[in-house]
Amino acid sequence: MALAAGFVRVRILSPFDPAQDPHTLISESYQAGAPSLLMAALPYGNLQETVPIPPHEQVAYIAPFAQRNYYREGVKRLQKLGATLRTLYGGRRSDFRILCNSPVPEKPLAQAAGLGVLGRNGLIITPEAGSLVIIAAMTLPFFLDQDEPEPGLHQEEPFPWCVYCDPDQPPCVRACPTGAVRGDGTLELSRCIQWYASGHGRTVPLEIARNWGNRLYGCTECQDACVHNQRTIPGVRSSEGPLPAYLDPVALAALSDEELKARFKGTAMGLSWLGPQGIRRNARLAASSP
Ligand code: SF4
Ligand code: SF4
Repeated sequence: MALAAGFVRVRILSPFDPAQDPHTLISESYQAGAPSLLMAALPYGNLQETVPIPPHEQVAYIAPFAQRNYYREGVKRLQKLGATLRTLYGGRRSDFRILCNSPVPEKPLAQAAGLGVLGRNGLIITPEAGSLVIIAAMTLPFFLDQDEPEPGLHQEEPFPWCVYCDPDQPPCVRACPTGAVRGDGTLELSRCIQWYASGHGRTVPLEIARNWGNRLYGCTECQDACVHNQRTIPGVRSSEGPLPAYLDPVALAALSDEELKARFKGTAMGLSWLGPQGIRRNARLAASSP
């Protein structure tokens, strides 16, 4: 049913045992009445339309993953699935807790479930859609057999799918404009453009600002370079929180807080931790890009 709902990969993690890692990553409140966890990957793919830009326009780009609110799309699809499961098998609405872009660290759960493997770039790579997915989970109030491990998808060895790349100079490390990809599955966040673009950090260091380019939101160099994202990857269609591929950064930076909140409400840039100040900062950095 989850596959029919557009998720490209779905796995069951059971038993949902608080005594075992990585299940302890989920708080007690999530564990109550939830012996199984459904993990699902929703693809946004790499087939977004490219829009030609008039040569005279000053532009700041929004990355494809942020041109729709795919997190909201994933939640909406899981809510619908949860409602169907409730009708069929019972349980309360609150038993079907949806974890998507939540404080629960999703990567260890995704690895444990066999949803994908961790890449050297710190992202979960799925067989079906590379890393061009959002990861969502839903607790289930009934027990389902855990999915059997699939060959190559359980990470006894680190980075099993990075074997195609030179470990000393992998493409994802080389592609990062600020040297944030360490190549060991972690990022140096204080060097990551996307970390700052998401509203983190009090100030943006000069070295990062110099490499900002004309991004309004979304750095994707470490994903674009990954060998697993080079093929054509279809994504789901979504009408949630549409944003264009680019906006005028000077005009944006001049908007008031209220105007910015209204402009980005319901979009991937409308998240509370970014806020109007973060959007304005991104716009100014993009506008000052040579
Ligand atoms: S998002 Fe950009 S800056 Fe951050 S690690 Fe990836 S390539 Fe580097
Ligand atoms: S570019 Fe290569 S090393 Fe980097 S995450 Fe992708 S497969 Fe792994």
